[in-house]
Amino acid sequence: MSTRRKKIYEGKAKILYEGPEPGTLIQYFKDDATPFNTEKKTILEGKGVINNRISEYFMTRLNTIGVQNHFIKRLNLREQLIRELEIIPLEVVVRNVAAGSLSQRLGLPEGQALPRSIIEFYLKDDKLGDPMVTEEHITAFNWASTQEIDDMMALSLRVNDFLSGAFGAVGITLIDFKVEFGRLWENDFARVILADEISPDSCRLWDAQTNEKLDKDRVHRDLGDVIESYAEVARRLGIMKEMPTVIQGGLH
Ligand code: 5GP
Repeated sequence: MSTRRKKIYEGKAKILYEGPEPGTLIQYFKDDATPFNTEKKTILEGKGVINNRISEYFMTRLNTIGVQNHFIKRLNLREQLIRELEIIPLEVVVRNVAAGSLSQRLGLPEGQALPRSIIEFYLKDDKLGDPMVTEEHITAFNWASTQEIDDMMALSLRVNDFLSGAFGAVGITLIDFKVEFGRLWENDFARVILADEISPDSCRLWDAQTNEKLDKDRVHRDLGDVIESYAEVARRLGIMKEMPTVIQGGLH
């Protein structure tokens, strides 16, 4: 990673640098894991490498089924070239099975299948702890238009169908996940495009047989072996066969 490159943004798990051409950025995947926002910071060596590859895998496939996204190409172990978008300041969560904050808020047992997939919006604001917001808030404060909300919901459901199938085929249940979107301007028209990442950092993934957690909830609960779970997800998807040597240094 070059230190001379201009940093555009640094988040909890990723850094965005200026790209080689206008309209592009470089997305760098960090090893930091900061569940519950920044209360409990942990470094998981090798996590960034795995997430870079898993995200590449899904973004590439989503592109081939017509879900346009910001991914252009992977550059190296931790970096990918992406299209620069005007980020919509929302996190879109899709849930198939009750868990996490939904279980807490509504008193639903973790693991209870939901009657249908549920979409929720959260405002991206670490200081406020990413509060949940409704369409009323989103349109009143101009974070997105009604049409953009419709587009985000439709795209999120397509991503959910695709990911549920892809994970289901390798014995993993997609409990829920979070995605983000941005606007790609073409003359005066802004198209809503999938952004961010798709990885075990942003998905709840349970083993279909045992319900063992294969995602960052392991960090929340000190379950340990997080890297091994992330690598297991990558292995089941048939990517990163070289992974054990890549992360070897980080395991000891
Ligand atoms: P919950 O609202 O139950 O905590 O999270 C729902 C889903 O969205 C989980 O799969 C969780 O990993 C994901 N998610 C929620 N907030 C964030 C966030 O700030 N960053 C990431 N990477 N994922 C999130």
